[in-house]
Amino acid sequence: RGSSMNESVKQESFFGRYYILFIVAAYIFSVAMRYIWVDWASAFPQFFWNSQLMINTNDGYFWAEGARDILAGFHQKGDLSPVSEPASILSAWLARILPVSFETLILWMPAFIGSLLVVPVMLIARTLGLHRVGIVAGFITGIVWSYYNRTMVGYYDTDMLTIVLPTFSLWLLILSVREEKNRYLFLMALSMLLYEWWYPSAKALEMAFGATVLIYTLLFERRKLFNYKLLIFIVIAAAPISIAIKSLASLLIFLYFHFYGEKSERYILYILAAVVSIFILLGGLGPIWQQIKGYILREAVDSASAADMVKLHYYAVSKTVREAGAIPFEIFANRISGSPYLLILSVAGYILMAVRYRIMLLALPMLGLGFIAMKGGLRFTVYAVPIAALGYGYLSVWLAEKLEAYMKDSSRAKKLSSLFILLMLGLSLYPNIVHIYNYKVPTVFKKSEVEVLDKLGKIADREDYVLSWWDYGYPIRYYSDVKTLIDGGKHTGRVNFPVSFALCSSQTASANMARLDVEYTERELKKESGKRSDDYMALMMKDYGFEEPSLFLESLEDSDLKLPAKSREIYYYLPYRMLPIFPTVKLFSNLDLETGKSRKSPFFYKVPFVMREGKIMLDNRSYIDTKEGSVHFGDASYRLNTFALSYIGRDMKVHSRIDRIDANERLCAVVMKSYNMLLLMDRSYFDSTYIQLFVLGNYDKELFEPVIVTPMAMVYRLKR
Ligand code: MG
Repeated sequence: RGSSMNESVKQESFFGRYYILFIVAAYIFSVAMRYIWVDWASAFPQFFWNSQLMINTNDGYFWAEGARDILAGFHQKGDLSPVSEPASILSAWLARILPVSFETLILWMPAFIGSLLVVPVMLIARTLGLHRVGIVAGFITGIVWSYYNRTMVGYYDTDMLTIVLPTFSLWLLILSVREEKNRYLFLMALSMLLYEWWYPSAKALEMAFGATVLIYTLLFERRKLFNYKLLIFIVIAAAPISIAIKSLASLLIFLYFHFYGEKSERYILYILAAVVSIFILLGGLGPIWQQIKGYILREAVDSASAADMVKLHYYAVSKTVREAGAIPFEIFANRISGSPYLLILSVAGYILMAVRYRIMLLALPMLGLGFIAMKGGLRFTVYAVPIAALGYGYLSVWLAEKLEAYMKDSSRAKKLSSLFILLMLGLSLYPNIVHIYNYKVPTVFKKSEVEVLDKLGKIADREDYVLSWWDYGYPIRYYSDVKTLIDGGKHTGRVNFPVSFALCSSQTASANMARLDVEYTERELKKESGKRSDDYMALMMKDYGFEEPSLFLESLEDSDLKLPAKSREIYYYLPYRMLPIFPTVKLFSNLDLETGKSRKSPFFYKVPFVMREGKIMLDNRSYIDTKEGSVHFGDASYRLNTFALSYIGRDMKVHSRIDRIDANERLCAVVMKSYNMLLLMDRSYFDSTYIQLFVLGNYDKELFEPVIVTPMAMVYRLKR
């Protein structure tokens, strides 16, 4: 044992001396690998705006809007701009000090900030004196599958720090327990408070760290007073009070321990008892109960409403999101380590490491959270990434040392063991780099769509509303600086209902609903926050004296309906990309509001076509015979209700010819010539405002006016 251990100690000291250089190298490696996407995406002019690549995550436009408004120094009441969100504040601050364009900043922020993960990972290893382990783990952790996906260039979201910050906390926890210095305790508390500021759900992990430290102490280090000090700081950090008060409390207690040294020691347990009591009295355990309650009472229908209003039952948005069910082991393993065998080796390495360095048990909450992904959905896997990387690094070095001890010839053994570690590193990097090469994510919007929004921003006032589906809410607000009714964060069944109705109903009903929805949204904004409701449908029904939702919706077909006074303009943003998801849009208004029961989904089919012998071929056995006015699926054939043809002319207007064939039939076919697309759908879809305005250009001149017409997206102004 003696000689091989001495060898390894000597080697460690070389790596230890130049460790900072290895940290820098691992960081540069992590950032550089992210350039692969930039290189691929740069070949597509449609991905650029303001001569920079656009971001590739929808939510990013939310933070970008907030940062833009912070820099501008103003925003509009009720425009939902996140001017006090940490991600926006950090972005605005960086935009002020860095000499790059705002587009460049938000594009690269996730790469430069997310890659910081290598720092705490490598510091954890250094604290344990395991320099080679840290170097292996550092090179792996920044580019692992799921971590890469969520911190790649353009993935501008809070993810860039949600793993970095708790990994710093973990390092400071380990450092505190090993070094027993009060200043590390204070830094640890600060890192937790910073994490909570950045990411409100941070508390769950912080409480898990607290519980782990408690169990660890009771099992192994009961007599070590310092660990109870550590618990004091964790309990304060997790308390349900303002971050400012917690920072002050941590500082005061730190100063007390610092200046009163040994004298303070006999009060540690009393302080801990006091802090825990205050924590419980303030309701610190509440979130845990909430979690448990949330799992038991999972509501299927969104139906809470105030007492004096009718109780309406809306479509629950969670039904359209694929249920976060159990995921196959292979996918799960890929996300955490790059492949199943790598995950198994990493976990084996972590177990070996925790046996030799018991303190590594404190990493269990992060590893555990990663494993929750098996049941709770893929988004949790990233938490396990840094711990798995450390485990893999440990196994690599451990095996290398075994190899060295086995081969007694010292000079060759040393070289071989280094080579072995490099081989292990390569084995781990390979599948992850392959993944990076294959992961070709497009930007959220295309240049031609942004051009429409940019133009709209110059036409519309900042107080005007743009009606569109929630998927486009954030980008619309970022590029056009207007207000929206729904967006990536505001899209419950009840707020989606009026918008879905406006897109799917007749033009008269749509116009009435749009005006009502906007004016009611603004009316509620003016109330005190406690008295607001977002159940606008129920409010409208109360004011118009309706008890039955279906009768109220019918009354909207009246073109002389008395509407609230017009306070601003309303624009409809109708993109081509909404066509494939139009049935999903319809789900939100295609239900009985009294019971919450969905109605039968009408037929909707979109397919590219070819012309053959005067027939419109959908595939080899299905076609539309325009002379007969019928559609054939193999041997079955149906007469059409309507056949229409539309195209966008050189005059940048939508032209269409509509032939009514048989009023008793339900299927309508539309040939969209400019797109080489055929739509086959039930009459109810055909009559919808979206299809009439976007696909056919068949707008009611009393109600709408086209403002911008392009193949990718159109904007209509509401004239009511
Ligand atoms: Mg605004």
